[in-house]
Amino acid sequence: MRLAAYGHVDMTSVWTFAGALVLPPALAVLLCVVVLGYAWIRHERHSGMRAYRQVFGAAVVIASCLTSRLVLNLFTTGIDESAQAFRAIFAVVVAMLVYATVNFVVLFLAIYLAVRPVKLGDLLENRQDVTLEFATLCLGGLTALALAYQPLWSVLVVPPLFVLQRSVLTKQLEIAATTDAKTGLLNAAAWQHMAQRELARAHREHESAALLIIDMDNFKLVNDTHGHIAGDAVLRAVADSLVHELRQYDAIGRFGGEEFVAVLCGVDELTAVGISERVRQQIQLLQVAAPVQGQPPMTGLSASIGISCYPEHGAELEDLLHAADSALYAAKRAGRNRVVVCPL
Ligand code: GH3
Ligand code: MG
Ligand code: MG
Repeated sequence: MRLAAYGHVDMTSVWTFAGALVLPPALAVLLCVVVLGYAWIRHERHSGMRAYRQVFGAAVVIASCLTSRLVLNLFTTGIDESAQAFRAIFAVVVAMLVYATVNFVVLFLAIYLAVRPVKLGDLLENRQDVTLEFATLCLGGLTALALAYQPLWSVLVVPPLFVLQRSVLTKQLEIAATTDAKTGLLNAAAWQHMAQRELARAHREHESAALLIIDMDNFKLVNDTHGHIAGDAVLRAVADSLVHELRQYDAIGRFGGEEFVAVLCGVDELTAVGISERVRQQIQLLQVAAPVQGQPPMTGLSASIGISCYPEHGAELEDLLHAADSALYAAKRAGRNRVVVCPL
């Protein structure tokens, strides 16, 4: 339940891909510069993305455009009225696959060189992004075919593009509003909403559930020793570890500071203790790369975990949070780096 780690999808490919298919290569490149430059000025200038990454991204799009045009030319001299419709459609589909492949392979290589090792699964984690990119390329292909055969038809592409863009924007805003930017987990408000829903479901289906509060031990010391940026890297690594150790449908959130929360549905006390022990041990094994090159990775991290169970410790989220919090304090008092269940 978190955002794809590296994904960035917009819908500019509609124009860049269509341009690659119908324009002479020099004009297609110019179109890429104009479209991506406009997108940068309009939306991304304030996103904090570094300029060199923008330039690299634009270079990848231009390479994808030129390669897909090259492949198109292998099948047909161009999609115009003289080409047979079936042949033209086939060429557009192949060009689309080439465009997507070049785009993906180059980005994968760049990310691999920057943060290796990177898993293929991490890049494809958000399937919606991948399907959106294909839908965008299909619209680009349709636009190109319309421009070649009946330029007026290309007007019909605008309404579906507009609606698709609006729904993507809504989804992006929804994700931004519910995600903790530092860790990619649910933020506190979104987690509470999700946890309440999960508890209502447990109630309806007569299931048990467990609530975990995970608090990093002596985190202030991590900041004091390595700095806040390093502390943030540790928080990200702990969040990754939680996502890895818990199930995909468990609601995991950052409650605040160096505190994380999770609701595990269908889990009884004994199982919750086993899972929490596994989480605790994984946090102990973490080796977090220091943000300053040449410095050794940060190790020796630990966390204390407080557990409460539904329905034993209460039916409401507030009761469960309170019970898990007192278990957490008991864990801290007992010496930290341990799992404690709230007594009944
Ligand atoms: P304890 O074992 O009792 O939990 O000790 P602690 O030091 O972890 O707890 P304390 O509440 O005293 O300090 C929490 C620290 O977490 C203080 C604060 O600087 C740090 N912190 C909170 N949020 C962030 C954050 O977003 N990034 C970083 N780097 N540090 C944070
Ligand atoms: Mg702490
Ligand atoms: Mg704390």
